[in-house]
Amino acid sequence: MTEYAIEIENVTKKFGDVTAVNNVSLKIKKGEFFSILGPSGSGKTTLLRSIAGFEYPDTGDVILNNKKMGDLPAYKRREKVMVFQNLALFPHMTVFENIAYGLKVRGVQKDEITKRVNEQLAVVRLTGYGERRINQLSGGEQQRVAIARSLVNKPEVLLLDEPLSSLDRRLKEEMQIELKKLHERVGITFVYVTHDQELVLTVSEKIAVMNHGNIEQIGTPEEIYNSPASKFIASFIGDINLIEGKIEKITSKTCLITVNKMKNTKLEANIQNKKFKENDEVLLAIRPEYIDVESKSKKNNIKLKITEKYFQGPVTIIRGQIGDTELFIKTKGSTNLKKNDNTSISVNPENITVLQ
Ligand code: ATP
Repeated sequence: MTEYAIEIENVTKKFGDVTAVNNVSLKIKKGEFFSILGPSGSGKTTLLRSIAGFEYPDTGDVILNNKKMGDLPAYKRREKVMVFQNLALFPHMTVFENIAYGLKVRGVQKDEITKRVNEQLAVVRLTGYGERRINQLSGGEQQRVAIARSLVNKPEVLLLDEPLSSLDRRLKEEMQIELKKLHERVGITFVYVTHDQELVLTVSEKIAVMNHGNIEQIGTPEEIYNSPASKFIASFIGDINLIEGKIEKITSKTCLITVNKMKNTKLEANIQNKKFKENDEVLLAIRPEYIDVESKSKKNNIKLKITEKYFQGPVTIIRGQIGDTELFIKTKGSTNLKKNDNTSISVNPENITVLQ
């Protein structure tokens, strides 16, 4: 028994001159909530469709539960993978009929259908809703019916392509928590494709970030957020300060970086890997919430002049200037600091990511 539900090995898929997926490899564990994140056109859907069998790779393999899929068509992969289809509910049918539809078409016996539909209604917490019509349900409830319909075939993997994109913000937030709980209840593998950076951090156990058909990083939400592997990932997910510098000195775990545009300030940063050498031009990536204001810390302590301040309730946004560099800071709660004040800021060396 393999521990992986899905293995993608060196998959490339081209459409004419466009390389939609470029030599991608990844492994998705059984039961994992795995997300594929990337901007529009980065190849997410093509990769998902290759898993489902709606596309076949030009080169490389899709392996589901230890079996190479080759050019096995989608309908023959259905017991293994189901694609969640958001907008495909039949409005004139009841909730029960909608969920039962696929089973009925396949000639499953009536008793078995009733049993399985009721099971799924319980999974999506809609027990008792079977006789309602789709147009008598809220948007969130409709979404849950659609999920129940995808799960009724008992697939090993559920593929979800931007399932929440049509919902308003409040419902989206509600549904993302619902999806996460649902994943825990059902226990199967979820592969979730999205360009929504905030949502993906909340729901996923592992994230692969795609850009121009390539995977730039695979990691937990914390790894992707706190230690982005590239400038693209750093700026694609959340707010971040990107500052140019030059490595002056490298010791075993840290390096000293001179930032010209910050009045030649020297900053100490932890280095995550060994690819850097002295005199390298680098980018420092610093999340706004990791910068302390009114700081008494001796390490990486710099004077900053505040140019803007906005109170937002849980955080206060501060913009400030050091030489030619503008910094964006999020500090917890409120502060008495005002526009034009000078303050000491600091950032812990472990919260600075050094990028090439
Ligand atoms: P989105 O978030 O906008 O859906 P995506 O990351 O899912 O984007 P894909 O849909 O996989 O990206 O597309 C990747 C690239 O391949 C794009 O440049 C797209 O135009 C191209 N592409 C995808 N499908 C086809 C097709 N059937 N024929 C030609 N080009 C295609």
